[in-house]
Amino acid sequence: MRNYICITCGHQFAESEEHPDRCPICEDDRQFVNPRGQSWTTLDELAVEHHNVMMPLETGLTGISTEPRFAIGQRALLVQTSKGNVLWDCISLIDDASIEAVDELGGISSLAVSHPHLVGSMVEWSRAFNNAPIYLHADHKPWVQRPDPVIEFWEGEILELEQGLTLHRCGGHFEGSSVLLWPDGADGQGVLLTGDTMYVTPDRKHVSFMYSFPNFIPLPAPTIDRIVETVMSLRFDRMYGHFIDLEIEADAKQVVQRSAERYKRAIGVPS
Ligand SMILES: [Zn+2]
Ligand SMILES: [Zn+2]
Repeated sequence: MRNYICITCGHQFAESEEHPDRCPICEDDRQFVNPRGQSWTTLDELAVEHHNVMMPLETGLTGISTEPRFAIGQRALLVQTSKGNVLWDCISLIDDASIEAVDELGGISSLAVSHPHLVGSMVEWSRAFNNAPIYLHADHKPWVQRPDPVIEFWEGEILELEQGLTLHRCGGHFEGSSVLLWPDGADGQGVLLTGDTMYVTPDRKHVSFMYSFPNFIPLPAPTIDRIVETVMSLRFDRMYGHFIDLEIEADAKQVVQRSAERYKRAIGVPS
């Protein structure tokens, strides 16, 4: 029995003798099936030619990404706190070197995942760190391909983690799309980790909002307003997206507002 991993979205599936027939995440409108046909790997196969790289981003924050790039290519973000560490979003590869490197930073007390595209091998990561709980919004439950008791489905709009960080449901990209607020980040000015809820654009001066990023399906104005309203009530100055280098260093709330206005103009909604 093996836990197969979809090579397009990086989602690890429940144990099976044969690889699954299909990946519901990739068949959804927001993703795409590998043009060469649905394909699978396993952790052992992935580890042969891939490794993880730790990238310090600021005091208490480290990016963890896989090289060469695999599947969607996101980084996970490890937030260190005095009450234990939180891993935000996840990646598919985990190996002994990654576990050792994370242990040196204090291990993982909780995982929190924004939405089904950035799940990776989250249950494996939890196992490696004493079955740390994984917080995922209950709206995402139908998308989970490897159910496990370590997954804690939270409901409502806000969840406070015991490490002092808070999860906020914004919706948009997925109904349960969430962001993670780290109040101590950016020297105490607050950091928002955004997943795909708000996509930090390559110019690092804006964010975007999409139903589907690879298939270019925008979101309607009321949905943008809801996301903006949710995050404007939070205290933060810096934002980190899920790709390397996609960060808004400062004045992130102004960036959100400016970006939302620009976006709505582009989809024909007068401001
Ligand atoms: Zn997939
Ligand atoms: Zn996504």
